[in-house]
Amino acid sequence: MDIMKILITFWHDKKKRNKCLFAILLIVWAITFLQMMNKIFWKKDEGAVATMIVMMCPKCSIKENVPVETSAGEIKCKKCGADMGFAYKCRDCKFEYSLPEVPNVSPKATPDKLIEAQRMAKCPNCGSFNTEPISQ
Ligand SMILES: [Zn+2]
Ligand SMILES: [Zn+2]
Repeated sequence: MDIMKILITFWHDKKKRNKCLFAILLIVWAITFLQMMNKIFWKKDEGAVATMIVMMCPKCSIKENVPVETSAGEIKCKKCGADMGFAYKCRDCKFEYSLPEVPNVSPKATPDKLIEAQRMAKCPNCGSFNTEPISQ
């Protein structure tokens, strides 16, 4: 095999071998460095754009942090396999519950739309509209 012969002679030439090793080291270092930079920037990006929300199993009340883009029914409970709902908390009685669907309120929503959304998220324990999604 010619390639093997070339490789062997190349390997026995100390100068060439050192150069080769140095090049490999440089490449490895560069990859590690780039990955590190990528991780730092990616993390920063994630922190700025995506926030986490909390989902809750309606059956066993297990909570899980998920990215904010997660939609209803996308996450199954790890314990019982039920569709996870959005975790809400009542400001009045501190009751925590799972909402199967998050009221769809855009930032431009009219006041009555906001009231409607609050009504959808009404506390099942005391009936208060004073509720909020549990955020992480
Ligand atoms: Zn469950
Ligand atoms: Zn309540």
